[in-house]
Amino acid sequence: MRGTVLYAPGDVRVETRDDPRVERPTDAIIRIVAACVCGSDLWPYRGIEPVSGPTPMGHEYVGVVEEVGNQVTTIRPGQFVVGSFAASDNTCEICRAGYQTSCVHREWIGPLGAQAEYLRVPLADGTLVATPDRPAGDVIPGLLAASDVLGTGWFGAVAAEVQPGKTVAVVGDGAVGLLAVLAARHLGAERIIAMSRHADRQKLALEYGATDIVTERGDDGVARIKDLTDGFGAHSVVEAVGTQESMMQAIRATRPGGHVAYVGVAHGVQLPGEELFYSHVHLHGGPAPVRRFLPELVDLVTSRTIDPGRVFDLTLPLDQAAEGYRAMDERRAVKALLRP
Ligand SMILES: [Zn+2]
Repeated sequence: MRGTVLYAPGDVRVETRDDPRVERPTDAIIRIVAACVCGSDLWPYRGIEPVSGPTPMGHEYVGVVEEVGNQVTTIRPGQFVVGSFAASDNTCEICRAGYQTSCVHREWIGPLGAQAEYLRVPLADGTLVATPDRPAGDVIPGLLAASDVLGTGWFGAVAAEVQPGKTVAVVGDGAVGLLAVLAARHLGAERIIAMSRHADRQKLALEYGATDIVTERGDDGVARIKDLTDGFGAHSVVEAVGTQESMMQAIRATRPGGHVAYVGVAHGVQLPGEELFYSHVHLHGGPAPVRRFLPELVDLVTSRTIDPGRVFDLTLPLDQAAEGYRAMDERRAVKALLRP
């Protein structure tokens, strides 16, 4: 089969890889209908995370089940499925508490390489959610978004305790930040402040429900949020970048008693204990337990209640995956969808 492989920073290729096969009785093999490039794929692509030899890429996927192992009971060949970027049994104590990305049997999908024609999904019964019918073509991008960026933005809004009447600020205007805006709107936030300095992303944020746009960053961005909230700061802030600056911006933009959710993969973030002590903010985040939200998100997308697929502004054949990485790296695209 064809699949993307990252060789070195800036060097991603589509080449022939071995067809995946059922290795354990709980596996499923799916034929990928759509996959995509994640903001987190750009960290190794940019050389910020080390690349140790040729690495299959991709952890966001929707597809059709081709084959299942003999212990798979609920997922069947022919079903259209969405899964999270982490495989989970969905039965252990941690999963049942809603933290499937810390499942005691967790396996990351990334190293298996979802930017490909086929994918082996471990723990198929716990990981995959089947759609009721074969979805129409126009909702497939939305279902693909549910696999990671929508689920991550949703977790951000939930972890930041977004509720009706609250003021929410979102730091980061990538796909996760934009979909955190959508989630905050769905959860009934009264005011949603999107922090963005890109006109096209501001436009989508407003369409997804943002009420205010703040273009300033760092301390100036914090000052703007305070201006907009009677000097208090937001009740809920979603941090969707993962840098020191964005994390401190999120903490400082939150009012005492408020909630910060951090869903951008942290790179080199160090929190000052004394400032944290006096900030009086709640902190919660981490790799989003997308699986917790998938059944609801699949329903919201297939019923066309929400349209998260609009974050994909570039669609390419799988063989042109390298252009998808380039376009996202150069910020010419928010998010690239790949069709095998
Ligand atoms: Zn589990």
